[in-house]
Amino acid sequence: MKLLEYQGKELFAQVDLPVPPGKVANTPEAAKRIAGELGFPVVVKAQVATGGRGKAGGIQIARTSEEAEKHATDILRMTIQGEHVRCLLITQAVEIEQEYYLGITLDRSARRPVLLFSREGGVDIEEVAKSSPEKIQKCHISPLEGLHAHQVRRLLFEAQVPQSQMGALTDVTQKLYRAFVEYHAHLVEINPLAFTPEGGIWALDSKFILDDDDLPTKIPNGYEERIDPLEQAAHEADLQYVKLDGSIGIIGNGAGLVMATLDLVKLKGGRPANFLDVGGGATAAQMSKALLLVLRDRQVRGVFINIFGGITRCDLVAQGIIETQKALGMRVPMVVRLVGTNEAEGRALLKQTQGFIAVSDMEEGAAEIARLVGSSQERN
Ligand code: GDP
Ligand code: MN
Repeated sequence: MKLLEYQGKELFAQVDLPVPPGKVANTPEAAKRIAGELGFPVVVKAQVATGGRGKAGGIQIARTSEEAEKHATDILRMTIQGEHVRCLLITQAVEIEQEYYLGITLDRSARRPVLLFSREGGVDIEEVAKSSPEKIQKCHISPLEGLHAHQVRRLLFEAQVPQSQMGALTDVTQKLYRAFVEYHAHLVEINPLAFTPEGGIWALDSKFILDDDDLPTKIPNGYEERIDPLEQAAHEADLQYVKLDGSIGIIGNGAGLVMATLDLVKLKGGRPANFLDVGGGATAAQMSKALLLVLRDRQVRGVFINIFGGITRCDLVAQGIIETQKALGMRVPMVVRLVGTNEAEGRALLKQTQGFIAVSDMEEGAAEIARLVGSSQERN
């Protein structure tokens, strides 16, 4: 299991490795807000499991809120080596004087961990390994004895690291080894491990591969769920959400109704992007959360909202949906079927708003959304 940078950094922080303050953002608005809280400059970073994000344009420095928002918008639209960018890490930017590479992995033939260090950090370490392997220092670690400070110092000395950086680098290396052992990793990497002009040291990136057959019990609860950020966000918002691979976002209340909706949409030739049950009392706030979540899935090109209200006030639900769509500035077609108290008022509100189609029959709604999405352009 390969962790995303921010997840790896959370584990780094637990062993006291120096990680710059930062937070995850799922939208340009959130990126802007977080950047403001952190203070400028910040780095806006694509969270994908593949490396080489910097080269692909997925790492950008922002000096103002507007820049942060702009970079976030651009990066959230990117696909890096086939992987869609689903969220961002916003961190305080660190001034870099020097970039090192530090890694620990298993050397299977030696049957023990090996520590890797290079002064050529920041760039593709595989490239350095190929073109100038002498620039990577190695040292095996005894699993029984652990990593001794004197081993690290010798390695750093061979790499001709300045005396003034020895202490901090030794400390970071020992903490990284602790992370490697405690989290049963196959590989941990900090690249770049950066020094500032003032002599401060920071882990600016993380790479963490855990052993799927031996996942540690120490990782925080619900960690695996975080691998899919949408499902994690749903969990936190108290929404029952399952990601599917189609293009029509589905929101309904009650698991049975949502399942019936999925079937109908399929029957009409559409492909559902998710299962989402907002639960019994579909309030405006719940609807808003649900819509935000569904629209974060970049495959979604249209949404079908199917609410069987009962005591729920349909006009309030409609208002929640309309406000959310306005706030997002989203331009995907939405078909809404509302049944319940004040349903006529709810439908009237929707009919006045561009981008919505209000229906009272769910079969009609399913056909409508399948037709609209079938003929709509790629969302970009
Ligand atoms: P990768 O390309 O996927 O390995 O992503 P990284 O997180 O390693 O970032 C790529 C490069 O962006 C780094 O090597 C740095 O040169 C630069 N970078 C990342 N964080 C910072 C930062 O806080 N300050 C500055 N000045 N540059 C950064
Ligand atoms: Mn890196």
